[in-house]
Amino acid sequence: MNYQVVLDEIKDEIKDFLKKGKVADYIPALANVKKNEFAMSIIDLDLNEYHVGSYEKNFSIQSISKVFTFTLALLNYSKELYKRVGHEPSGDPFNSLIQIEHENGIPRNPFINAGAIVTTDSLLSIYKENTFDYILQFIQNITNDKTISFDNEVYTSELKHGYRNVALVNMMKSFGNIENLTNSVIQTYFKQCSISMNTQQLAKSMLFLANHGINPIKNEVLINEAKAKRINSLMLTCGHYDASGDFAYRVGLPGKSGVGGGIVAVVPKKLAICVYAPRLNKQGNSLAGTKALELFTSKTGLSIF
Ligand code: GLU
Repeated sequence: MNYQVVLDEIKDEIKDFLKKGKVADYIPALANVKKNEFAMSIIDLDLNEYHVGSYEKNFSIQSISKVFTFTLALLNYSKELYKRVGHEPSGDPFNSLIQIEHENGIPRNPFINAGAIVTTDSLLSIYKENTFDYILQFIQNITNDKTISFDNEVYTSELKHGYRNVALVNMMKSFGNIENLTNSVIQTYFKQCSISMNTQQLAKSMLFLANHGINPIKNEVLINEAKAKRINSLMLTCGHYDASGDFAYRVGLPGKSGVGGGIVAVVPKKLAICVYAPRLNKQGNSLAGTKALELFTSKTGLSIF
């Protein structure tokens, strides 16, 4: 299949959608982006690359980072991790406090904020003050790209404005589900959210999930097949917060979004995709990005269903 033709068509058909939705404005650093920008990258398991738009331009990966920290936590803890964080869709907004109180400090899944915060806490218990460096090195290693870094302006801005996340970590600490100092946990969580990448790097970083846990870039086993399956399943059922059902219905692929406007998705045994368009829908997922992925699976027939 000629993916370049597909991408060019999508770029053309997506134009009207690029003007819809609102960029995240809970911190100034995220609000100051080019609002109608678009980029999309496809990389297959033979490492052929196809791109359209501003695919070399970095943006804030935000919650896409939760895929990397969940992968690292699964590697270290296996099933033990599920005592502290579940694997059910939440049906609530990404930063909901209500559910966490009702459910005694155990978040529904690792992709809502509370779940990602617990996941990061579990990594802090192992890697201590080197946790963020370890997360970043993991991403640099799987993409074979040492230039990947974080955006200090986004990070400090998150620290200044992230009251809800601070509330979440404190609430979970009160239930005994946070092992480390709440300050260290939240700083590491905000730093992982402020990692900057482009669609090319993000598509590369998801190839191991399209390939049963084996990273085709270095031909190394990152995680076993069973765990790769679990991560993909959670991306399918929980990757888009309370719009996860809608994303699965429209796109039919495991995917994870971030409020920075990025979405990654995986076609098992074939390829990884990343799309960037910063305007978001009401649930905080890229509006045009979701549409672009819907167009992709409609045009190619490459959904998992
Ligand atoms: N830094 C964001 C927050 O925790 C991440 C949310 C997202 O990307 O969906 O509020």
